[in-house]
Amino acid sequence: MIEKVRCLIIGSGPAGYTAAIYASRANLSPLMYEGMQPGGQLTTTTEVENFPGYPEGTTGTALMEDLRKQAERFGADIRFGTVTATDLSSAPYKVTIDGEKIIEADTIIISTGATAKYLGLPDEQKYAGSGVSACATCDGFFYRKMTVAVVGGGDTACEEAIYLAGLASKVFLIVRKNILRASKIMQDRVLENPKIEVLFECETLGLTGDKVVQGANLVKRRGESDESQLHIDIDGFFLAIGHKPNSDIFKPWIETDEVGYIQTVPGTPRTNVAGVFASGDVADPHYRQAITAAGSGCQAAIEAERYLSEKGL
Ligand code: NDP
Repeated sequence: MIEKVRCLIIGSGPAGYTAAIYASRANLSPLMYEGMQPGGQLTTTTEVENFPGYPEGTTGTALMEDLRKQAERFGADIRFGTVTATDLSSAPYKVTIDGEKIIEADTIIISTGATAKYLGLPDEQKYAGSGVSACATCDGFFYRKMTVAVVGGGDTACEEAIYLAGLASKVFLIVRKNILRASKIMQDRVLENPKIEVLFECETLGLTGDKVVQGANLVKRRGESDESQLHIDIDGFFLAIGHKPNSDIFKPWIETDEVGYIQTVPGTPRTNVAGVFASGDVADPHYRQAITAAGSGCQAAIEAERYLSEKGL
């Protein structure tokens, strides 16, 4: 059975929920499919202290629950389900949910987010929320005057190491190659920072600690004749080895960069397909914050409303 809507929102992080709040208040009767992880990446973090409006802080789960309730209060239809196919060749656009149900939508707001990459160590799960994080801006504050490690050698890792060096007493940067991939300026900032020690040619074998992270076991020059093992004492372990934007399902139609981030007209959430907008981390390689995602969700809903009104839909 085909269901027809004016505004379909795909994904339920801060971008999607904010889009739902604005779209429902603009009488677009939005339908949202939450995706596999209702609430998005923030539900995997613990405390959130940098979202404006919460002077005492909140948790990622509570924040998402508040946003969801706010969207429902204005009539947003929020459902559990995942997009499994899309046909954006012509309007109204067709989206398949869970392999069976078809939605036809005049406008679509894509807010499917991005997924932080992890090393794949069982310890990353074991210490999730207890010392392991994939977001220094979100969690760095909890490590003031402590020792942390950042994994990665790209711009994100360097940026996070520098950010953390402003809070922590010591930062190890664990880099698997003998060079940093980051831009020269970021490399210089890292190498010149007295609080950052770069451990080149090192890989993480596992984490140690009783309930919370207290250390990491590393291997240096794995597979070489001079391979050696070392242990570092740390309180926090930050992954910064890249993100994967959740855009694959739209790729035949929607232009992305080489990493998969949806390309939008600068300063707007407009994609290359008229009436299809992208907001939040799926289109943002740079900021990736709940508040910036929420802001772009608001923009996407305003754009959807204007598009529908221009088309008389
Ligand atoms: P990148 O893909 O650029 O870098 C990922 C880093 O993680 C690399 O050093 C890579 O190592 C390492 N890595 C990947 N997998 C593993 C693994 N399994 N074990 C250990 N290390 C691993 O990702 P970024 O998130 O840093 O950057 C993404 C894009 O965003 C880039 O284009 C970057 O320039 C841009 N960016 C720009 C910023 C700015 O301009 N201020 C800030 C942040 C990002 P290896 O080098 O060995 O492959």
